[in-house]
Amino acid sequence: ERAPVVTVDGPSGAGKGTICQLLADRLGWQLLDSGAIYRVLALAAIHHNVELDNEEAISLLAAHLDVKFLVSGPSEPIKVVLETEDVTSEIRTQECSNAASKVAAFPRVREALLRRQRAFNLEPGLIADGRDMGTVVFPNAKAKIYLTASAEERAQRRYNQLQDKGFDGNIERLLAEIIERDERDMNREVAPLVAADDALVIDTTGIGIEQVLELCLKHIVEKL
Ligand code: C5P
Repeated sequence: ERAPVVTVDGPSGAGKGTICQLLADRLGWQLLDSGAIYRVLALAAIHHNVELDNEEAISLLAAHLDVKFLVSGPSEPIKVVLETEDVTSEIRTQECSNAASKVAAFPRVREALLRRQRAFNLEPGLIADGRDMGTVVFPNAKAKIYLTASAEERAQRRYNQLQDKGFDGNIERLLAEIIERDERDMNREVAPLVAADDALVIDTTGIGIEQVLELCLKHIVEKL
């Protein structure tokens, strides 16, 4: 690694996105949302009518993916652009989440995206958010964190997020989808979701963002 890296891995809905954004703001570091890359890839496949089970075609698409992450300022949401289209909200749909976790299971797709992810490792440092940041992409990271929470709590958080945005959610369906995606992410053969041996594991069930942030910062300061 060039600049120092802090990895934050864990299942969906564990609060990684929020925590990583706060950590990047607090430290003034770069942010890699690796899940967004898999989401954009899935969306590109859907747009180009590529079958989601065609590993060959999806890996080719991954190697040529034209995606940009535009940062407008600290604490500002990062804009995601596919080719020339702003897909920031489109990649967050349930359809895209499920499609992303399908294409992410292909070894050659993951291989094709490795260099692109490592290119985010710039000065003064990088907060890397994903599933395999500490195990595969940045195994020599200075500090590794694994965030988790019960599936019920993660479904409840998603439900609240949807409500805040004015959407209606179905809690049972959200829970079923979280369990299905966990299952796929944890049981795939390549880079399955697992805590790195040297990661600090934080179960965020029942604890607030502020407290999680404090635990993360304390760990980072100790490790840097
Ligand atoms: O983190 P997010 O929910 O945006 O990720 C979407 C999907 O992309 C995950 O369910 C997972 O299958 C895949 N992913 C991955 N490796 C990463 C980040 C995301 O396989 N480092």
